[in-house]
Amino acid sequence: MSKLFDLTGKVAVVTGGGKGLGQGMAIGLAEAGADVVIVTNFSNAKETVEAITKLGRKAHTIVADLSDESKLQDVITEAKNAFGRLDILVNNAGIIRRTPAADHAAQDFHDVIQLNLKSVFFLCQYAGREMLKQGSGKIINIASMLSFQGGINVPGYTASKHGVAGLTKAFANEWASKGVQVNAIAPGYMATDNTHQLREDPVRSKEILSRIPAGRWGTPDDLKGAVVFLASPASDYVTGHVLCVDGGWMVR
Ligand code: NAD
Repeated sequence: MSKLFDLTGKVAVVTGGGKGLGQGMAIGLAEAGADVVIVTNFSNAKETVEAITKLGRKAHTIVADLSDESKLQDVITEAKNAFGRLDILVNNAGIIRRTPAADHAAQDFHDVIQLNLKSVFFLCQYAGREMLKQGSGKIINIASMLSFQGGINVPGYTASKHGVAGLTKAFANEWASKGVQVNAIAPGYMATDNTHQLREDPVRSKEILSRIPAGRWGTPDDLKGAVVFLASPASDYVTGHVLCVDGGWMVR
């Protein structure tokens, strides 16, 4: 196998790796050779852990509410101590609240910004400090089509994901010369719990599907290639990039 995409001996942290897109990416990283620390806010990440250990890789689970800013340094410290190093951070955990802008509750706006943006800032900072010390590292933030577009009924989510794209570029500039690359993946419309409401709405789901050139919703497996690329030496001269994995949605 080409060394370019080989993650043997690397340790990855995937937030929200217990289900959905995070689960797909955690397994993809393990398939490429990485050991994986999964951070989850529900009781365990059994399914993901089983899939990773079946591949002969190690998995460690940290149960934490990443909305609680005061816990984030401990999460990174425990993640590093789990296997003795920290090479890759995938900031995937995220929530969405759907209500029209005119009625969007302050609490919803706050909750979404707290987890999707503020926690991402601190996790980049805390993990980044470890990576800067070792002179290498890869951070991959999960952005969205709504890092580029306005969306409908999700103003807090859109603000958070525009912010994620901005943070990615800000950290990338400062750390590019120090061996740490910071990029983002912008998934298109993917079949997970995050889009359950949309897929249940016959009008919206038809509208969305008809705009996707690939002619189907994406799946967690569709992110494996992009995350391995951005976590591996193949992307050592790629930084500050927001990579769309969207079946062509963005260019339509
Ligand atoms: P999902 O709802 O299945 O997964 C969300 C994940 O975040 C879960 O693993 C959950 O455990 C974790 N999480 C939620 N609140 C948390 C908290 N307080 N602390 C720790 N972890 C928490 O949805 P998904 O589609 O897999 O979403 C993953 C990421 O992808 C999110 O950032 C989402 O915004 C982004 N995204 C999804 C789509 C899509 O179409 N599904 C598109 C673009 C971006």
